[in-house]
Amino acid sequence: MKIACPRCKANFDASPAQARLITSLKAKGAALAMVECTQCFFDFGLELTDQTEPDKPIRCPVKACGGWVSCVTLKGRTPFYGCGECGTIWKQANLLFDAVASTKKGKR
Ligand SMILES: [Zn+2]
Ligand SMILES: [Zn+2]
Repeated sequence: MKIACPRCKANFDASPAQARLITSLKAKGAALAMVECTQCFFDFGLELTDQTEPDKPIRCPVKACGGWVSCVTLKGRTPFYGCGECGTIWKQANLLFDAVASTKKGKR
């Protein structure tokens, strides 16, 4: 596992202890891991942003539909969002988020 030091710009190998720490922090969903550069001994917070977060399911904003919206990616087509329960589709993520936001407002 290679770590880039922000101070001396060295790319160093994580020590076994650092690798363990990073793996366990990633598993916990942490955003940062404190590591020490093996070249200049600078302590810094390593961003754990390369983790692939699974998409959080979005509750379908259609009234009386209890389904979940999922992102549909088809080859050669722009990804869109669709609800498998009621069949509604949103061509853009922001349209879906607008719909979700407006249902939340309506409940207040
Ligand atoms: Zn360094
Ligand atoms: Zn639905």
